[in-house]
Amino acid sequence: MEVYRRPESRPWERIESRSIVAGAQKPRYVDISNPSLSVQCPNCGLQTQRFLDHCRNDGYKLWPSSEMASAAFKAWRDADPRRAEASRYDLELPAEAADATIDYAARAHQLGIHLFPSSNYPFIICVGALFLALAAVPFDGTVRIGLLVIGGLIFLYGVVGWVLVEDVRMFPSASPSTDGEVHH
Ligand SMILES: [Zn+2]
Repeated sequence: MEVYRRPESRPWERIESRSIVAGAQKPRYVDISNPSLSVQCPNCGLQTQRFLDHCRNDGYKLWPSSEMASAAFKAWRDADPRRAEASRYDLELPAEAADATIDYAARAHQLGIHLFPSSNYPFIICVGALFLALAAVPFDGTVRIGLLVIGGLIFLYGVVGWVLVEDVRMFPSASPSTDGEVHH
């Protein structure tokens, strides 16, 4: 690997540190103490990937070759275990894995948002709706009335069970009958 050094006559191109350590096998032009994955392009001034050989904005050549950029990236990445997941196509390091478990019910309660409880009643409501829909089919009059009654009962059972029983059980303080707020 050749030693790459930006010309002294163009100091504004000092993207990386120019310290040269003789004999090192790693690329000598990488400032591995700099945690950034992006760099300001010396030509267009926009942020671009630090370890791609060309600026993604205007194609300005940041590295003499893709191999050198890759080698520089590897040296930079291996300098810190926190960089292990980094990609040289990214502008930033991947975010620390945050605790992804969120208590949405507690969060919603805190924000005053009413969540319907997770429930099997919606399926019952759908079955009721199916019978009600069948009642719209022009069968014989008694069949339609029968379907209407069956569907209506199932539908009402689902709605009552879901909205009045489970919902009140889940939000005892937010009962629709007591605070007068419109939830649904
Ligand atoms: Zn550029």
